Amino acid sequence: MYLNMIGGEAVASTSASKNINPSNTNDVIGEFAQASAADVDRAVAAAQAAFPAWSRSTPQERYDILKKAADEVMARKDELGRILAREEGKTLAEGIGEATRAAQVLAFFSGEALRLNGEAVTSVRPGVGVEITREAIGIVGLITPWNFPIAIPAWKIAPALAYGNCVVLKPADLVPHSSYMLVDILNRAGLPAGVLNLVMGRGSVVGEAILKHPGIHAVSFTGSVGTGRHVAASCVAASPMKKVQLEMGGKNPLVVLDDADLKTAVECAANGAFFSTGQRCTASSRLIVQEGIHDAFVAALTERLQGLVVDDALKAGTHIGPVVDEKQLKVDEDYIALGRKEGAKLHWGGERLNRETPGFYLQPALFTECTNQMRIAREEIFGPVASVIRVKTYEEALAVANDTDFGLSSGICTTSLKYATHFKRNSEAGMAMVNLPTAGVDYHTPFGGRKGSSYGPREQGAYAREFYTTVKTAYTYAG
Ligand code: NAD
Repeated sequence: MYLNMIGGEAVASTSASKNINPSNTNDVIGEFAQASAADVDRAVAAAQAAFPAWSRSTPQERYDILKKAADEVMARKDELGRILAREEGKTLAEGIGEATRAAQVLAFFSGEALRLNGEAVTSVRPGVGVEITREAIGIVGLITPWNFPIAIPAWKIAPALAYGNCVVLKPADLVPHSSYMLVDILNRAGLPAGVLNLVMGRGSVVGEAILKHPGIHAVSFTGSVGTGRHVAASCVAASPMKKVQLEMGGKNPLVVLDDADLKTAVECAANGAFFSTGQRCTASSRLIVQEGIHDAFVAALTERLQGLVVDDALKAGTHIGPVVDEKQLKVDEDYIALGRKEGAKLHWGGERLNRETPGFYLQPALFTECTNQMRIAREEIFGPVASVIRVKTYEEALAVANDTDFGLSSGICTTSLKYATHFKRNSEAGMAMVNLPTAGVDYHTPFGGRKGSSYGPREQGAYAREFYTTVKTAYTYAG
């Protein structure tokens, strides 16, 4: 059994859950311990014991550990990518890509540990000096989703540690193996016992215990809007209140204008909407297409979809792996049925598929003749399902793109500098892409959105310090 890691030790557990491969439900990856609320208490106590020394450790110590871990993750990216693809269902290439991203994030934040600086300000009072510095917040609870099993834990853990915090990590219960490996690598890279603790298990037990624990100073959460709202409310209701950061869902628009390069637009749509089985918060689930290019775009995208192989994530030649589990597959199928009922045309796909092994295989679904008012165009489906919405003008396209409760990522395919520039300025999203898929970002730049997609400071890049540090203003009278 894979055990929780608390205070640098593997902790025995009375309950466990099976980690099942979504490409082959006969393949049990392993039994993973389920933490209890008492385990969360122990993890917080271990983090509290480690905090005084860790928060005063030198940037060199933090650099060395994060860099060593980055090097090991990079050296083992193929193995880690396979573990990830096996438990989550994204393809092996995507899994290896994500493991590589985790290594890059760890390496980036090893450098950030060295770059933490402050300001000296001239006082308005004579003889007084003012220093503004950043300090660790304390004990940080990290709650992560299943769709990026190693990259999201890495991009929360790395800045937390780089700035001197101690961590209690609760990964999604569907994909604990990747987090288990990451925590093991970081601990062996030299983290003192208790600095990073892993508590695997259910949101209703482990997540709730983190939200309720008075010893946790801040919570960084990535997941669905509903859970996020509850996380924020709990953090504000707690005594003392917890600092909170939420990254949540998306209903990201990709605008395709008449002047777009057709090949670029089709690639952006195929990749953005359907790769990683559409299970990305940045997925292009609304394809907003101008009428002059509409028919050619739909025809070319359909041809592209026909060439995509949906199969076992670990098989060579697979372009799209299975849906993560039966529950999510049912959600996807229900939305496909709803789309038809709402009057959209299921132009291609949407069928459950049988493959050599029993798994949750779904053919990508492309809806046409959609309106932006349909529920399939308003609610996050989180599967390989995209809606094409026909528009007359750029102005209408922009209005439809912004007419959503979400605001994570947006994109436009155009050869016009005027429209590209206008779109970047007027898109109500945290990230705007021109001639690129809405999914796919750099690791050294801020990541996050607006409206229902995000709450609190940005993640990633140097901007991550806003959440993982607290500011101190110190005044000195020197006569
Ligand atoms: P989820 O909200 O069901 O779960 C997220 C995490 O919260 C899991 O670890 C879960 O166990 C935990 N949790 C559940 N109930 C809890 C509770 N009561 N208290 C505390 N923790 C609890 O989300 P999911 O299904 O794992 O992930 C899919 C969602 O994540 C999608 O909506 C997707 O858009 C979003 N997502 C967002 C981003 C982003 O950066 N914006 C990135 C990836 C995924």
